[in-house]
Amino acid sequence: MNPLQPRWRLSSLRHWPSSLAFKLYAILLIAVLSIVGLVYVGSHFARSTATAALHLSESGLGGIMRAGELEVLIEKHRRIVEAAPAEADRRQIARSRTALAEIEAEIYAIIEQKIDETTRSVSTEMNDLRKRSARVLMLADHFSWDAASDAVNHYGVTADAVQSAVRQIRSRQKGAAVEMVDHLLANANALVLWGTINFLVAMVVLAPMGLLVLGDGARRLRALWKAMFQIAQNDITEPVPSLRDADEIGHMARAVQVFKDNAIALAGKRSEIEQVNRFLDVALNNMARGLSMFDANDKLVICNAIYRELYDLPPHLTAPGTPWCDIASYRSDNLTKVDSDSVKAVSSLVELRSVAARGNVTIANQSLTDGRIISIAIQPLEDGGWVAVHEDVTSQRQADAKIARLARFDTLTGLANRHSLREEIDARCNTTIRQAFALLLIDLDKFKLVNDTLGHPAGDALLEAVAERLRRMTRSTDMVARLGGDEFAILQDSAQNADAAAVLAARLIDRLSEPYVIDGQRVIIGASVGIATFPDQGTTMSDLLGHADLALYAAKSEGRGAAVRFDPSMRDAIIAERTLEADLKRALAEEEFELFYQPILSLETGRTVSCEALLRWRHPQRGLIPPLAFIPFAEQSGLIVPIGRWALRRACLDALTWPSHIGVAVNLSAAQVVAGDLISLLDDVLSTTGLAPERLELEVTETLLLGDDAATSATLFGIRERNVRIALDDFGTGYASLGYLRRFPFDKLKIDQEFVRDIADQHASTAIVRAVASMAKSLDMTAVAEGVETESHLARVAAAGCTEVQGYLFSKPVPASDIRSVIETCSIPTLDHSVWLRQAM
Ligand code: C2E
Ligand code: CA
Ligand code: CA
Repeated sequence: MNPLQPRWRLSSLRHWPSSLAFKLYAILLIAVLSIVGLVYVGSHFARSTATAALHLSESGLGGIMRAGELEVLIEKHRRIVEAAPAEADRRQIARSRTALAEIEAEIYAIIEQKIDETTRSVSTEMNDLRKRSARVLMLADHFSWDAASDAVNHYGVTADAVQSAVRQIRSRQKGAAVEMVDHLLANANALVLWGTINFLVAMVVLAPMGLLVLGDGARRLRALWKAMFQIAQNDITEPVPSLRDADEIGHMARAVQVFKDNAIALAGKRSEIEQVNRFLDVALNNMARGLSMFDANDKLVICNAIYRELYDLPPHLTAPGTPWCDIASYRSDNLTKVDSDSVKAVSSLVELRSVAARGNVTIANQSLTDGRIISIAIQPLEDGGWVAVHEDVTSQRQADAKIARLARFDTLTGLANRHSLREEIDARCNTTIRQAFALLLIDLDKFKLVNDTLGHPAGDALLEAVAERLRRMTRSTDMVARLGGDEFAILQDSAQNADAAAVLAARLIDRLSEPYVIDGQRVIIGASVGIATFPDQGTTMSDLLGHADLALYAAKSEGRGAAVRFDPSMRDAIIAERTLEADLKRALAEEEFELFYQPILSLETGRTVSCEALLRWRHPQRGLIPPLAFIPFAEQSGLIVPIGRWALRRACLDALTWPSHIGVAVNLSAAQVVAGDLISLLDDVLSTTGLAPERLELEVTETLLLGDDAATSATLFGIRERNVRIALDDFGTGYASLGYLRRFPFDKLKIDQEFVRDIADQHASTAIVRAVASMAKSLDMTAVAEGVETESHLARVAAAGCTEVQGYLFSKPVPASDIRSVIETCSIPTLDHSVWLRQAM
């Protein structure tokens, strides 16, 4: 639900009867009605009182008064009439007559006013009375006193009747007046009663109702006001009262609830915004870079702590709204210059700002007086403002410089590295004034031996010593570089002729071959040098390097310790090598390889004990190629692994066709052992061919042992676990220390041909062969003499203690198809030790 949407409908006035207005109107109505009633009743009573009073005054009191007047007048009339008979004076009688007429006129006037309905009868009796009075007077006038007295008596009777009638009228009028007064009193009482009733009704009905309505309304309004006050003070914990009321206060409460809901929603929004602000704050102040943001009027909007710290800005310059120019001028005091290697070179802060204003992302570096370098990236904003990210790149710059140095120099020796050598050659090749120079590539001989036997620190020390010697032997205009490993190079400046380079090379080899003392140990190494000269042997950097490399390669294969100048024919050798690789791959696919076998004979029995498998390549054009022509290359290119795999399987298959006591020896390359899958290959070959493992012998060379790692050791022991024997081939030529012999499980030592060949004329060789043979014996190994070509060789190796022999004297390697007959026929010519001994003398 949207909190800003009112939950309550304000327009629902369906509950009108329960509304406050209704109640107030009802009270008003009742009040008006009671007032109207009061007025009506009052006026009614007033009217009836007025009528009664009028009646009272008119007929009651007036009647009494007129009746009284009538009585007095009649009494006057009577007295005059009764006095008349005794009157003797006619004038008096006339005066009486006049007085009577006046009285009678007055009486008639009163009677005319009709006191009541009986007045009419009074009027007729009055007529009689008038007539009788008139007779009395007339009789008196005639002095007929007796008649007059009679007439007076008649008159008296009538007068009595009239007087009685008038008295009756008076008493009737009096009764009516009393009745009127009673009526008036009753009216007054009724008025008081009505007024009281009205008052009571008003008091009993209106007051409690009003009090109830007003009291309840006031109470609820007070509660509502309190709730509103709390909301105004952001206290939204109290619920809004009267929410369910149907009247106006209820509507008001629901309106307040809407405000409260809005307030809650706003509070939520506010706390969200506050949280976002807090996050922003944390993010800003924890970012590794300084950040400043300015609006379109160049006033600071926001900046973080790093920004303040970078420029050491005082607090008044980091307050929002601070003009940019104030900060800029403060910063300018700390600025020295603007780096030229910035993406967009800018010379001052002002320019920096104007570039940013043009809408480009700008990056500039500023160096501060204290040596720090600040990188500033300025990003214009859509609204005309801009954001700048400031980063202290001092250490980065220092690291860059270090990397740049590292990129150019060899860390160990401090000599230039391959990269700078290439640059230097390139530069020299491309100058307008061509100056001859020579590139000498130097490769240390036997360095690996030192490294492996004395350890890497010793190897490093040796390299440093070599670098030092090279430095001393060159001029300042020459460049000495280490290309990596034990390879060095010299760029010999202005070598006018090739001889100069050759002379230097020869001196280098001599000097580098002089003994070193490393860790108190005397160390001797050698060096081979390949030379290429500019411009005659190459005019580009890559040509020169390539040619010098070829020359070095040639020098190394010439036997070490040589210096060789580049010759174009070396290129042909490389091309030949490349063709060789393609050829080898094809040969493998098309099975152009063959195995020849050469018997190994026991000196004890004089018979063949096993045959060594020797690889041949029957090239479709070049004919049969010996292994040394391609195996080194196959080793280099890794092709030896699949080739060796094939050879092992082939040899085992071939051996199955031989007498079962004849073993088969297969040569292994170090690469095959290192490749890692030798054991599984062995298992596979043994199980698929079914050859007894005891018949198989694997020949490894000492180079394999130089690695001396756990994997090699595991492989060799794995071979032994399978009852396959291991022979150490070409023993004595490599670097194998005698320690290897104990550490690895060898069954056989094959003494290298070199020693056997020299055995006739070199004492040392004889001693070596003898020593090896006796050592083998003591370690319970077989000692095999290889390359036995003559009877003399045979005699001497036998005398030296070898137990097995192999060589052209018995048989050259023969194709697989011929080996069976060789096994059968081949034997040691004579077993007479004395003959050997004689020959050995
Ligand atoms: P190696 O293992 O020392 O093999 C003996 C080498 O001496 C063979 O040369 C053999 O023909 C030669 N030889 C034997 N008796 C005499 C002798 O009385 N006088 C002279 N001068 N030489 C003799 P080959 O067959 O040319 O093999 C050369 C090398 O090629 C082998 O030396 C071995 O290191 C490698 N090689 C041969 N076949 C294989 C192979 O299948 N795998 C591997 N990895 N290397 C092989
Ligand atoms: Ca061998
Ligand atoms: Ca050998």
